Amino acid sequence: MTETVPAPIVDAATRHEIASGVFVIPDHRVPLVPNIGIVLGEHTALVVDTGMGPRNGAAVLDAAQALAGDRRLVLTLTHFHPEHGFGAAPFKGKAHILYNRAQGEDLATKGMGYLEMFRGMAPEIAEALDGTELVAADTLYDGAVHEIDLGGRKAVLRNWGMAHTRGDQIIWLPDTGVLFTGDLAEERTFPIFPWFPPDDTDINAANWIKALTDCMALNPKIVVPGHGEIGGVKIVDDVRRYIETVGAKVAAAKAAGKDAEAIVAELEPQIRAAHPDWHFPEWIGFAIRYHIDTQP
Ligand SMILES: [Zn+2]
Repeated sequence: MTETVPAPIVDAATRHEIASGVFVIPDHRVPLVPNIGIVLGEHTALVVDTGMGPRNGAAVLDAAQALAGDRRLVLTLTHFHPEHGFGAAPFKGKAHILYNRAQGEDLATKGMGYLEMFRGMAPEIAEALDGTELVAADTLYDGAVHEIDLGGRKAVLRNWGMAHTRGDQIIWLPDTGVLFTGDLAEERTFPIFPWFPPDDTDINAANWIKALTDCMALNPKIVVPGHGEIGGVKIVDDVRRYIETVGAKVAAAKAAGKDAEAIVAELEPQIRAAHPDWHFPEWIGFAIRYHIDTQP
């Protein structure tokens, strides 16, 4: 029997302005709904993430068009995961779709597998994904940084290679100090380590920490996490510390000669207790096992 879960529906009517011309459709802490951004420049509007499936994507497109008026639309993603990018199809032909090359490759090589995996999670999720088409970018950019001129302001897209996925990307708005982190940083949520060997092992914790350290150096005023409430740079710092702590605890336990099951049994409750108000503790075990499997 499958458990009932909340339907992963984006509530586009609740969009609000968090800085001049920067709008967020909040996730309301609904699982598998991301925080979505719409950024207005003088001639171009940038949409960050789509929600899951064509109906969520269409609702986000409607909201973006209502805010953008006759501005040109550009869509980008924080990463390829279904709740962030699998609502892109309605944007095809209506927005210029821009991914980094690794995101495009993630989507092409792993998209169908993730679609099937998510469909199998619960009927509510399968329904949201019904009719999903995976959409290739109009443009794939190469390199670590890509700037978009929105007219009177710029959006800086930046990636570090493999971290939470192969193609994680932040969207940084230097004029307002707003940072969209995607799932590199979620608020009061155990970081998602999608460690599913042998199907998906595309995680790099050291690089993830580097990305978060660089994000902190930007000194953002407002951090829009992939999931959870909008806040400040503490959101980023909390995730960085968490990953460092899990890595250090696993290294110590391995050095003491403990086997994998003993390490998980010992560390999972400790780590859970250290963050009593964080959501989705089921991800702690994946983070521990990632470090067990990848540390020397
Ligand atoms: Zn993700």
